[in-house]
Amino acid sequence: MFSSVMSAAVLGMEAYPVQVEADISDGMPMFCMVGDLAPEVREAADRVRTALRNIKIPFPPRRVTVNLSPAHIRKIGTRFDLPIAAALLAAMGIIPPEHTDGVLMAGEVGLNGRIRPVNGILQTVMMAKDQGCTWCLVPKENAREGAAVPEMAVTGVGTLGELLEYMINPENGKGKAERASAWEGGRKTYTVDFREINGQEGAKRAAQIAAAGMHNLLMIGSPGAGKTMVARRMPTILPGLTMQESLEITRVYSACGLLEEEGLVKNRPFRAPHHTISANALAGGGRYIQPGEVSLATRGILFLDELPEFSRRALETLRQPMEEGVIQISRTDGKYVFPAHFQLVAAMNPCKCGYYPDRSRCRCLPGEIHRYLGRVSRPMLDRMDLCTEVSRVDYQNLVWKKENEDSRSIRMKVEGAWKMQQARYQNCPWQFNSQLSPAAIAEFCPLGSGESRVMETAFEKLELSVRAYHRVIKTARTIADLEGEERIREEHLLEALGFRSADQKFWSPE
Ligand SMILES: [Zn+2]
Repeated sequence: MFSSVMSAAVLGMEAYPVQVEADISDGMPMFCMVGDLAPEVREAADRVRTALRNIKIPFPPRRVTVNLSPAHIRKIGTRFDLPIAAALLAAMGIIPPEHTDGVLMAGEVGLNGRIRPVNGILQTVMMAKDQGCTWCLVPKENAREGAAVPEMAVTGVGTLGELLEYMINPENGKGKAERASAWEGGRKTYTVDFREINGQEGAKRAAQIAAAGMHNLLMIGSPGAGKTMVARRMPTILPGLTMQESLEITRVYSACGLLEEEGLVKNRPFRAPHHTISANALAGGGRYIQPGEVSLATRGILFLDELPEFSRRALETLRQPMEEGVIQISRTDGKYVFPAHFQLVAAMNPCKCGYYPDRSRCRCLPGEIHRYLGRVSRPMLDRMDLCTEVSRVDYQNLVWKKENEDSRSIRMKVEGAWKMQQARYQNCPWQFNSQLSPAAIAEFCPLGSGESRVMETAFEKLELSVRAYHRVIKTARTIADLEGEERIREEHLLEALGFRSADQKFWSPE
């Protein structure tokens, strides 16, 4: 007898429909699987056969063929175990074959019949909906994630026995569908708070402006000055996630198998990869391609501590996502596009020992300092809208102060600036000041005559590159937005220019 069950292959971040067909016929007893299968998919034969035996369903001593189509899509992972088991049960006449119509399944089967979680369930259920399926059976641990897709019945299956029960009596199974919890907004509670940072007013202000316009931020200063402390608190002043953003992030985490059981991601990501990370791990890759750190940081923060220690190749991979908000990876089996809409926060010491320009402590030779700073290329530096020096806190500032502004209060200001940008750019393909093109700068950041003079002087005196010049205006736009002002004024420009003084100081052309 022949039967067919719908499933999906997940390649990169996308799910593709796969039909799992089983046929049992007379002939020499054998189990044959075909359809461009990775080794672990072939091994499904043993897992499913043993699992069926363990729930007291003897495997027929006949000729069994399982085909996964279409043949041109590579099938990887253990997610086909569940549909293979269902297709076999239908071909054996234990499940009514018509009950598998319009049902999609994915999940790994353990030898004892337990169903184990798999990656990529969110995109799988989304695809099922597009294909007109009405019901999805997924591992229990993945059910909440699948239920995030509206208007789709998603039932979590814990064991092969449950699968059997639900397929024989589908109404019973659909009745157990996971109910999607209503979107209550992103989470805004954190274990850290800006209130805990004494002094460092410059760095705190830079963090606030960076968050308000999603600008990239570079902090430079000696070890222990508090750069990491500031960076770790950046997510606490970003506005909460929208449902759309949460779905985008959840798809990435689902593809990487990093989702927790609660389903949708509620917090903005904060990713801090070590400086020894490879270019592939940053960009995405692996034998079966998966998104990398730039995508795991999407809609959140990518923090690179010890920036000059990252390999040139790794830093090079940041270029495209920083400009386009996505990363494209070309491989022999195709081209993959992953979201990578992150805010880059970087930190570095000013020299190898960390104490330059304090000559009483820094033992580095001028050439060494030059080489160390030179590891951060000019184009990279130009992409940092704000560059701020973080110096050690002096003694008076060591004691915790009550008047330190807390994250909630800063976040409310940032939310105000985001609202100004949303209103201004509602018909534009971008959302934030940091994303403005030169043409858009001319349109949305007009300068008065006094303001133009300030910029003209700065352009010549500071020898700004054209890119740096545009970055100053974009930053000034954000500072004006933080104050709720439609017009960019001189003081906004001057403050924005101040955030270029650190890179002028350390990387001054010689
Ligand atoms: Zn030094």
